[in-house]
Amino acid sequence: MWDVEGKKYLDFFAGFATLNQGHCHPRIVNAMREQVGILHHTARAIGHNLLYQVSEKLTSLFDYEKVLLTNTGVEGGETAVKLARKWGYQKKKIATGQAGVVFAEGNFWGRTLAAISSSCDPTSYREFEPLMPGFHKVPYNNLEKLEEKLRDPNICAFMVEPLQGEAGAVVPDVGYLKGVRELCTKYNVLWIDDEVQAGLGRTGKLLCCDHEQVKPDILILGKALSGGVYPIAAVLADSKIMDCFTPGTHGSTYGGNPLACKIAMTALDVILEENLVENSAKMGEIFRSELTKRLDKKRVKLVRGLGLLNAIVLDPNFRTAKEVSLALKQNGLITKQIKDNILRVSPALSITEEQLRSGIDILVNTINSM
Ligand code: PLP
Repeated sequence: MWDVEGKKYLDFFAGFATLNQGHCHPRIVNAMREQVGILHHTARAIGHNLLYQVSEKLTSLFDYEKVLLTNTGVEGGETAVKLARKWGYQKKKIATGQAGVVFAEGNFWGRTLAAISSSCDPTSYREFEPLMPGFHKVPYNNLEKLEEKLRDPNICAFMVEPLQGEAGAVVPDVGYLKGVRELCTKYNVLWIDDEVQAGLGRTGKLLCCDHEQVKPDILILGKALSGGVYPIAAVLADSKIMDCFTPGTHGSTYGGNPLACKIAMTALDVILEENLVENSAKMGEIFRSELTKRLDKKRVKLVRGLGLLNAIVLDPNFRTAKEVSLALKQNGLITKQIKDNILRVSPALSITEEQLRSGIDILVNTINSM
């Protein structure tokens, strides 16, 4: 990227881990240009060929029977929670008004009233109350506490990120996602897997839940589903769940418009055909091992993550993450603080080893000399 004064930067932020395919990928930009002159909007109430094509592509790639396209990740989350509540009443026979949804502490899935109602971060929810009823929280990465909650027969769903992005690239213990799958099955609770940030190659697998070969009941995708070119998100589930929505019960003017469908199909092709998932895994290994070796241990406590969704946890006695990110910017590298002492690092998955190593050098030289 270049700023308005012509200064050049390496972008290790990628628009909140959205530009998995890089900036202005020519195939995605051309798909958008072509489609906008053919047909850009009909509303989902009127079918169009691209809606069927993208549905076929998404359902066959991720092995679900149905998909519903939304505009943003948070709208995908809202859709998933609404769907789970409907399923809870219709299929689990929960008494009207009693359906509960469990969320993992530390979650982030957007800024709507439902999303902030599940948040543990006061800056997200304070002075926006009253919050959504029927929302419960359990510690992330804790199967015992989850099981205690899921025993409640009024719980219809557990929504969790497979790797918590905004919490600071928090990777759960091996076996956590498998455990979530088993507990949700045991208690007849839907597992909603929020892969808006962790999905589509970001963690070195196509889906982050692929690290444990488990399949959620409801999968939410967003961000890189358009390569950052256009707001697109998707909710996937099998018919026995998705068919709880019937015409008139849920909708969106723009969701699934022809432009979105064309862009999403092309953005997916780029991820698959340009081996971005493999590159993410490979570059992520280099990133963590180089930085763990070279960063001063007195300044940096830990470098963690999977694939190219990573965080640098600074020693609390060192500078703040904001100060570090401003110094990095000065030296030509874009990153962003997530917490006071955590810096997020999430470059495009199309990054070359040379570009990655240039960024690593800037990180090491800046942090070790501050
Ligand atoms: N879910 C996760 C895991 C996210 O990280 C985000 C955004 O950062 C969202 C949902 C919300 O997505 P959007 O900002 O597109 O609404």
